[in-house]
Amino acid sequence: MSRSEELFERAKRVTPGGVHSPVRSFKSVGGSPVFVDSADGAQITDVDGNTYIDFCMAFGPLILGHNHPAVKAAVIKALNKGWSYGAAETASLRLAELITDNIDWVDSVRFVNSGTEAVMSALRLARAATGRDKILKFDGCYHGHTDAMLIRAGSGLAASAVTDSAGVPASVSQDTLVAPLDDEDSLEKIFSEQGKHIAAVIIEPVPANHGLLPQRHVFLEYLAKLCKANGALLIFDEIITGFRLTFGGFTQASGLRPDIVTWGKIIGGGFPVGAVAGRADLMNQFAPEGPVYQAGTLSANPVAMAAGYTTLEILMDGQVYTHLDELGHHLEVRMAEIPDVIVQRYDSLFWLVATGDKNTGVIRSKDRIPGDIAGRYAHLFQSALTTGIYLPPSPYEVGFLSAAHSRNNIDQLVDSLK
Ligand SMILES: *Cc1c(COP(=O)(O)O)cnc(C)c1O
Repeated sequence: MSRSEELFERAKRVTPGGVHSPVRSFKSVGGSPVFVDSADGAQITDVDGNTYIDFCMAFGPLILGHNHPAVKAAVIKALNKGWSYGAAETASLRLAELITDNIDWVDSVRFVNSGTEAVMSALRLARAATGRDKILKFDGCYHGHTDAMLIRAGSGLAASAVTDSAGVPASVSQDTLVAPLDDEDSLEKIFSEQGKHIAAVIIEPVPANHGLLPQRHVFLEYLAKLCKANGALLIFDEIITGFRLTFGGFTQASGLRPDIVTWGKIIGGGFPVGAVAGRADLMNQFAPEGPVYQAGTLSANPVAMAAGYTTLEILMDGQVYTHLDELGHHLEVRMAEIPDVIVQRYDSLFWLVATGDKNTGVIRSKDRIPGDIAGRYAHLFQSALTTGIYLPPSPYEVGFLSAAHSRNNIDQLVDSLK
């Protein structure tokens, strides 16, 4: 028995399923999860001394790679000044200014502790601002584990038979409407029936939690137009894409402008941070300025703020994005050599679709995902793992490239899959 296997047995005794977030259990790819001992750059080392090139990268926050020296130095510097005040401080001010100075459509930011919290607060804000209750989400988009969003979501839910979580009251779910992605007709129908009751539409503009399902620009444009015509707010959940596609995320790159944006992952540099951001007239409805309550004992924790600030500061000049584009392109080109695996890529995000049918075309919605990928992906994942490649441990989670990856790492991935 390996050390990882031993530890997993112990963990299962004291923690549900042995893990603190479901996908970590390897449930959908089989086998026992690797227990990580340390990580550096693009590499992780497990407790048995095996090393892997990491293409999961903590599910997105580590755009600069593991254990980045500048982020580490900033964290240590912050730690030396004490690590939590529960009071006004300058670390969050600096980060908020860095963001609002460089993203012109954002006036104001509120920091929270996770993406889930950011979405929860954004929905409350939208409901307060419109005086309406209903929220429209899309089938296959994941917005964290707040009750109202656990309906036809993705991420850890994508691989399980349970599409709705147990424990979500019907009274909550009845205010969540669900539309298919990539489908203007359904949107039009929902808006014509319910448009006057919809407080907000929330979408991952590049859905990346149930595979990677890139949307047509005209579809998103149409959605924005319907929102405007019906007085519903548009929320872009950029928890994965924010600061990853460009500094200003998908929003900056697309020219589309949501009313509210949610961020997470990269904004905390690998520490627990989320954020709600947008125009001043909306943001100022949050307490203490306005009537929408929102709070947190550890919110804007100075150590996490320092990690986020340093990460964003490094990203600002755009060099990392150029490197990531080159890597992504190289990955796409080389993956063409692998039979029976399609790669869908959006900048530094990639999704390996292990299907026998290579003629699927671009997959843009959940119902277009081939039915045979789960078992095939499990096989792919396990054989990659034995050759030192750590892929996302679910057929529906996307892979992440980071500044720490090299062309050589991509070649190792492709050779391993071969
Ligand atoms: C990760 C993610 C969330 C949830 O963030 P947590 O920090 O895990 O709570 C919400 N929305 C999207 C698009 C995400 O990728």
